[in-house]
Parts: sequence; C-alpha cells; structure tokens
Amino acid sequence: MRLSDTHTHTRFSTDSKAEPAELLSAASAQGLSYLCFTDHMDLDFPGDATQFVFDTDQYFRELLPLKEQTKGKKTSLLIGIEMGLRPGRPDLRAQIDTLLSEKPYDFVLGSTHIVDEMDPYEPEYWSFSGDRLLRYFETVYENTKEHTNFDSLAHLDYIIRYMPEKEGFARDYRVADYENLLEETLRLIATRGQALELNTAGLRKGLPFVHPKKELLLRFKELGGEYVTLGSDAHAAKDVGADIKTAAEVLHSCGYSGYTVYKERKPMVLPLSAT
Ligand SMILES: [Zn+2]
Ligand SMILES: [Zn+2]
Repeated sequence: MRLSDTHTHTRFSTDSKAEPAELLSAASAQGLSYLCFTDHMDLDFPGDATQFVFDTDQYFRELLPLKEQTKGKKTSLLIGIEMGLRPGRPDLRAQIDTLLSEKPYDFVLGSTHIVDEMDPYEPEYWSFSGDRLLRYFETVYENTKEHTNFDSLAHLDYIIRYMPEKEGFARDYRVADYENLLEETLRLIATRGQALELNTAGLRKGLPFVHPKKELLLRFKELGGEYVTLGSDAHAAKDVGADIKTAAEVLHSCGYSGYTVYKERKPMVLPLSAT
C-alpha cells in the first residue's frame, strides 16, 4: 500500500517556514505516492485582511518547476490550496471562484477557520457564553451549503484541539449532541460527490483520534460518500506523512477500500489494502 499526504503547508503560508523542496524530500524519503501543498488562503481575515493571503503568481512560478521535476519519480508533487470559507459572503465566493480559475490547482481544501469573525484558535473565541462548538458546526454547515467550489471538506471537528479543558470532558464532544447538523453537512458533500478529509494533526496535539471522528466517517459512507482524502496538515518537513498510516487504517476499518487524491481537481481512488 502506498500512501499520500495531501494537506501540507510551506512558507507560502503565514504560519509556516518550511521550504517546499524540504517537504518534498521528506515525502520522497517515506515513499509517499503523492505530496500536495495546500497553502493557506483566507481572504479578508478578521483583524488583518491579508494575514493569510499569498501571491499565487509566485506560488506557481516556484512550484511548477518542482512539480515538473517529480514527473516519473516515485513521489509526485501536486499543487493545491487551503481555502478559508465564510458564510453570508457572496463577495468572497466570487473572489474565490476568480482566484481558483486563474491557476491550474490540483486540489482545493475547503476550511472553516473563522466563526463569528473570530479564530477559534484564540482563547477569546471560547470566552463567549453559549455552546461554542455548536456555533462552529453551524458555521461549517452554512459554509458547506453556500460554497461549492472546493474538493474536500478539511478537518471537520478540528477545533476541539483548542477547546478549553473542562472537568471530565476535556477536548472532546459527543457526535450525538450535534447529529443533525453534522449529518446534513456530510449529506451535502456526499450528494455533490465531494470528499471528506481525514486529518491527522490532532494526534500531534495530544488528541486520541484523527479528525473527524470515526462515527462521522462511517456516517459519510452510509450517506453515499465515496471520497476521503488524507492529510497531515504538516507545517514543517518533520511532520510530512505523520500518522498517515494510522489514518489509512482507520479508513480501512470503516469499510473504505481506497483513499482519494485529486489531480487537476479530479478524484483518483488509490487502494488501501496491501494487495
Ligand atoms: Zn486548516
Ligand atoms: Zn492546513
């Protein structure tokens, strides 16, 4: 079984210093089939509109030659993007459509990084009353309903990494408490033939499971979901491919026979079993 990592960040992302060539070397050393860069593009980020925006001309100018070099090699490079989605913003939807039409992206991750104009990574987000996890899942649902121009829904339920610890219920949640919202979100992407991402970063942050929880992977399959992409969300070369094998095992145990890699924005299902 040959695996792939299709969620990684280079120095084109504000929160990474990783050299693209170093990430590629790390992926080759592990014998990954595909490595995809998915740098952050969060248009109109609250507080500083350009904080998570990069120069896409420069991105392709640097990365296309690197991609070219991997042709015929054991590890192929793909060029993607992690697009920040926001509800109630038709202006941003139009900007995203334009941006994605300008360059030959292989893969587009759709991510919810902002809820109520706040980043759940910041403790401030959790200081407001009410169920902050519910607000996040509502926002993911609204984003999924309103935005269609992405290939895989990234790291559903990742914000529990940032959840303040409470007695007996630290950084965890019950799928049953948010069942309708989560199911409707999964139904939307399954119906449209989009992918769900299995993201391993939580394991590096001390969580005992990959994102999203296994129950949601099972539900996605029941709803007709076919495509699941695998990503480490590495922001440094040392994390490329991290726990991807574990993610593949989880996926296999949920009854999926393959994982998905997008090339030129088209899904390819690669086998999960050794044979
Ligand atoms: Zn993200
Ligand atoms: Zn990411």
